[in-house]
Formats: sequence, C-alpha cells, structure tokens
Amino acid sequence: MSLKFYNTLTRSLEEFKPIQEGRVGLYTCGPTVYNYAHIGNFRAYIFEDILRRTLKFCGYDVTQVMNLTDVDDKTIRDSREKGMGLDSFTSVYKKAFFDDIETLNIEKAEHYPEATKHIQGMIKIIESLIDKGVAYIGDDSSVYFSIEKFPSYGCLAHIDMSGQRAGARVKSDEYGKESVADFALWKHWVKEDGNVHWDSPWGRGRPGWHIECSAMSIALLGNHFDIHTGGIDNMFPHHEDEIAQSEASTGEKFVNYWLHCAHLIVNGEKMSKSLGNFYTLRDLIKEGYTGREIRWLIMSVHYRQHLNFTFDSLIGTRSVLKRIDAFFVRLKEKIKESEQGMDDAKRLVEGTEAAVRNGLEDDLNTSAALAAFFDFMKDVNRTMDADEVGGAAAELLLDFCRKIDAVFGALNVDKEEDIPADIIQMAEDRIQARTNRDFAKADKLRDEITARGWRVEDTAKGHRIVKA
Ligand SMILES: [Zn+2]
Repeated sequence: MSLKFYNTLTRSLEEFKPIQEGRVGLYTCGPTVYNYAHIGNFRAYIFEDILRRTLKFCGYDVTQVMNLTDVDDKTIRDSREKGMGLDSFTSVYKKAFFDDIETLNIEKAEHYPEATKHIQGMIKIIESLIDKGVAYIGDDSSVYFSIEKFPSYGCLAHIDMSGQRAGARVKSDEYGKESVADFALWKHWVKEDGNVHWDSPWGRGRPGWHIECSAMSIALLGNHFDIHTGGIDNMFPHHEDEIAQSEASTGEKFVNYWLHCAHLIVNGEKMSKSLGNFYTLRDLIKEGYTGREIRWLIMSVHYRQHLNFTFDSLIGTRSVLKRIDAFFVRLKEKIKESEQGMDDAKRLVEGTEAAVRNGLEDDLNTSAALAAFFDFMKDVNRTMDADEVGGAAAELLLDFCRKIDAVFGALNVDKEEDIPADIIQMAEDRIQARTNRDFAKADKLRDEITARGWRVEDTAKGHRIVKA
C-alpha cells in the first residue's frame, strides 16, 4: 500500500506524492482566538494531529503551520463588547488554546504564526493583485478581489460560476455559497474597528480573514506546498478565496491536496448554543471526562464521516481504555526470562503493523487501524491466558504498542495511573493484616479502598491497584 488521501479539489482518492522527496509542507487553519474552542473545532485539530503523526510514521519530515487568527470581524466585535484591547483579549484565548491541545495530547506544530504579525506580507500580496488588475478599490475605499478576473474561481467548492452576479461585493469574513461575490482583501477603517488598524497604501484599515491564511502559509511554506486542511465549513468561502488570491498573486499552483473533516454533531443535532448542546473542551473536563477519553472517541470515527458525539459513547470509551490499561499492566508482569512465544509474537507484530499501516494509509482510516489493534489485543490476551508469553516476547509486544502509539497518542503504554499515596499505604497495610491473619482488618481496608474508587487485585506477584 501507499499513502492515499481524499482530495477535496478532485473529489477523489489520490496517492500522496510530496513536492520534495521525504518532506511535507502542511498548513492547518487554526483557531480564531475570540473564545474557548469547542469540540467541533477539536475534531478538526485531532484529525490534523493524526494526519501529522501518520505522515511522520510513514517517514516524512513534516513542517506544519497552524495560524492563530487574532484579528477579524469576531475578535474585534467581542473585544469591544468586553471593553478590552484586541491584544489582551486574544491573548487569553491563545493561552487557552495551547492548554487545550496539551489536554488532548495534540502534538505541537512547527509554527504558530499570528495574523497581526504578518500584516506587511498581506499588504504585499494585495498590492500585487492590484498591479495585476485582479483586485480593485471599491467606493467604500476597501480593496476587493474580482472573482470574474480569476477564471478558475469555484474550483474547490465546485461552484458553477455561470449566471453569477458580476461585480457584487461582500465585505464580511463569513458568507454562504449563495452569496458568491467579490470578497474583501483589505477593509477600510470604520468606527466599529476602534483602534484596530494598520497603515496601508489604501489608507488605514485591516485585512480580511482570507488573505491572512494566504500570507502566513506562503511566508512559512512557500508559494506552492503539499497539504492544506480544515473543517468542511472552511472549504467555502475561506479556502476557495485563499486559492484565488494566492494563485492570482504568485502565478503558481497553491496547494496539491486539500483535506477536510466532516461535521461533529451532538446527540444527533447540530451543536448550537440555543439547543443547549454546545460544549467547549473545558465544559467536558469540568464534567469529569478526560482529554484521553475525548481524543479516543473523536479519533475512533473516520474524519470524513459525520461524528455523532453522545455522552453514552463518551462513557463507553472508559471501559475500552480500562481494558487497554489492564492489558499493558498484565503484559508488563511477564518479566520472567524466557524466550517462550517469541516466534508467535514476531508474527503477530508483523501482521498487526501491516494492518494498522494499511488502515492509516487508506485516507487515515483510524477506525480500521484501531480495529487491528483490538484484534492484536485479543490474540495476546489469549496467549497470556495460556501462559505462553515469555519476558522477551512481552517486551517485543510492548515496544510495538509504543511504536503505533506515536500515531494514536492515547494508548499510554507507559503512563501509570496516579494512585494516591494513602491508597498505596492502605493496600500495603491490608497485605500486612492478611499476613498477620487479621482478616477483619484486611476486609475493612479493602472496603475503604473501594469506597475511594480503587480496587486491589491479588496476583501471583503480590497485589496491584487499579481504578474501580
Ligand atoms: Zn485559514
């Protein structure tokens, strides 16, 4: 097999061929830092994390750029509502974003450019578009991109441009397909912008949202790079406009592969504040769910499928993860020095690695890759039941799990649960009580441990404490 992605540009599954052998330039649209990111946003960031980790797993050297949109219609509107300066307002949510991705074990990108630090690059692109006659200054002194001057406009969203209203203009950052129009590259200052403005050859103003991503991606990845991703919501107008302004400016193809993840819905309905089913990551953590559980649930569904997020399914991940944790504890107990089961272990690792790889290479089919891991776990558990796994084989199997967890980022092969010190002490006192044949005391200690949400299990090599 070779690595294949579903390319939104061509609506087909294509073999991935990098521009430069062994290297990948990846641009992933980042957060607009005007609020805490919600779980729909994190679906996109987890999909992009799996993409990044899979590319690395396949041997590529990845340069990922994720922008922070710290100036646009929404950041200006909400910072003014709160009576805060734009920078101090957005810095709260920038920090929150980095805390959140750590909670979800999302790997850091190589670059996190901020739009407000790339204004000059944006101005340069807009100047070149005006020079080429593809952009013009409107009667409101803002600069617009003329979509009729770019014949392939609509290539990504597959919009039929015949019969479109020539010369219609749209100034707001967000609009629907039915409002296809010349879009704003530079927005002339209006009083609602307050003190948010930069000087430009067209007077004081600020960039449109779409030009921000073109400027930051070109600055860090070059005119032409490999992969650009985002949520399906970003395909139009954001990504369509990025293609138009970038290619019209540089005269080169902008991006080879466009990958988009599908919507996340909650309990079968579109997530919205009015339906009361709108969740930020922080809301779920406050309810007692963990980043690992949320990551697991999100990545278990293929990124191009609708993901129906329910609390039942989130609770369901708990028992799955508990089984995985118990599996590693058991495997690590096989430390006796023996070569038993080595051939079987090698065969199993080889077969499972091929199946995991095939899944991931098939347009990041995480559900197939995880299914291969579950089959592996079942087989290993069976051989452990028959006591046919020696120490060397156990090490080999554990190493394999560490290797594939470079992609999943949630198996946690070596992450012991944090057992409170007093629970450990109680468990030890219990053993002592049993040795002293004080069974009443031993039982009482066991009950106390259970009441605290832990369980003591007696094994051949003493006892172990697990979360109840
Ligand atoms: Zn973007």
